[in-house]
Amino acid sequence: MIINGKEISKAIKEELAVKVATIKEQTGLSPRLVVVLVGNDPGSVSYVTGKAKAATEVGIRNETLRYPESITEEELLALIAKLNADDDVDGVLVQLPLPKHIDEQKVIDAISVDKDVDGFHPGNVAKLWLKQPCTVPCTPNGIIKLLKTTGVEIAGKEAVVIGRSNIVGLPVAKLLLDNNATVTIAHSRTKNLAEVTRRADILVVAIGRPRFVTADMVKPGAVVIDVGVNRDENGKLCGDVDYDATAEVASYITPVPGGVGPMTITELMVNTVECFMRKKIEK
Ligand code: NAP
Repeated sequence: MIINGKEISKAIKEELAVKVATIKEQTGLSPRLVVVLVGNDPGSVSYVTGKAKAATEVGIRNETLRYPESITEEELLALIAKLNADDDVDGVLVQLPLPKHIDEQKVIDAISVDKDVDGFHPGNVAKLWLKQPCTVPCTPNGIIKLLKTTGVEIAGKEAVVIGRSNIVGLPVAKLLLDNNATVTIAHSRTKNLAEVTRRADILVVAIGRPRFVTADMVKPGAVVIDVGVNRDENGKLCGDVDYDATAEVASYITPVPGGVGPMTITELMVNTVECFMRKKIEK
């Protein structure tokens, strides 16, 4: 069965829009998200456009501040300091990747932990691993929500995550662990990868290689979550999983596009509303 991330994220956004409208009616307040985009990378422009559209749908005031690639690290840090100090800004997101002359980690560290809607700030990362309330990164949180819609119990299952990035692999492994799965993290140095993946009841693939995971690497009946966003040799958008053949073997599978991608954007809206609620409503 196909896990329809587009439909699921639509339902979450509709629910969120009602919440935002109700709070606005009761308090006159509404969340505000500022997205910073450096340069003209087509992928980044498209992500930022999607984020702005989703924010508007939900009732989040939003703007995208665009800067040329030539912006200095100092100028970008000064901008973040200004946004941090602005009480009318609830969420700040700097679209990654940044040009090479800018230290990404320095920029992430500079965003106020309370406005870090991406959940990438070391303060939020530490809290995630300490199981303290925090802003959870969007893609991993979206993946867990997708898994929960299947009704498949996560507790006690063998979960294999391929990829150990800070933004997907590691946090999703932690969330699976928090949901009581037995988790294995595989990566480029994993030996006999197919043997490892065939153990998985839940397989999360976040590599960044077109159709890398083939049907023979998947246990019959497994739930397969494909995080990858790639272009194949014909320029067609595809995931890290060979979808057509794997769909024959898996019990549930996410398509690309229309699986994890829409959830990532929707979870950003969820995080923005949560940051706003903590700062302005539940204070
Ligand atoms: P990343 O930082 O490049 O990490 C890739 C991971 O894959 C690394 O841990 C790497 O292992 C592992 N890997 C690479 N080649 C491998 C191989 N042959 N066998 C096993 N593991 C291998 O990428 P990322 O940021 O996590 O993103 C992964 C993919 O997800 C990309 O396609 C990205 O565009 C996509 N993505 C999608 C969304 C969404 O919303 N849909 C969000 C974020 C990312 P090592 O650590 O050993 O190098």
